[in-house]
Amino acid sequence: MQIAKNKIVTIDYTLTDDEGVVMDSSKGGEPLAYVHGIGNIIPGLEAALEGKNPGDAFKVTIPPAEAYGERDEELVRVVSRHVFADVDDLEVGMQFQGRSGEHVHEFAVAAIDGDDVTVDRNHPLAGVTLNFDVTVVGVRDATAEELSHGHVHGPDGHGH
Ligand code: ZN
Repeated sequence: MQIAKNKIVTIDYTLTDDEGVVMDSSKGGEPLAYVHGIGNIIPGLEAALEGKNPGDAFKVTIPPAEAYGERDEELVRVVSRHVFADVDDLEVGMQFQGRSGEHVHEFAVAAIDGDDVTVDRNHPLAGVTLNFDVTVVGVRDATAEELSHGHVHGPDGHGH
């Protein structure tokens, strides 16, 4: 069965940056299962998988615009250390969740300079070119329930 919109696709993948450093991989764990064609995964990877069959293996380089977007320097702010008064050992690289109204966003501590803490709300992979090494493991039809939920059920997906 070919990969097309609304198929449940299972892939093994390894993600590396441009220096060849492995950033993520399904090796040693479960393959990734997703609903094809509805934006479950980044656009560049979804486009590369279109029309592929089980057993197909390929490499694809995805620019930021087709992955997690370009970095937006407007999302970088300097705040006072007292914002983190309840954090004992504040360190660069720590990740937090913030809330503004209904929206929950994640941000990372990018720099600490005395009382000034630089926080960055960009996605950690924003501005990063992604190199995927992908093997298609399986393709099947989605159930009506999976399509209405927009995600995969069963042993190869999340339960709820
Ligand atoms: Zn569901």
